[in-house]
Amino acid sequence: MSEGRCMKCKKQVEIKDAKKVKSKKGKEYIRGVCPKCGTTVCTFKLD
Ligand SMILES: [Zn+2]
Repeated sequence: MSEGRCMKCKKQVEIKDAKKVKSKKGKEYIRGVCPKCGTTVCTFKLD
């Protein structure tokens, strides 16, 4: 499971519907939604 910081809840949440996305610069990151408020949450992979 991936975690990211929700800007609305202002805390670390478990990302729902997490999908791997590649940015224009070729960096991979995870994008999904906050399970509590539905706000888009992104997190960069730390590897
Ligand atoms: Zn939230």
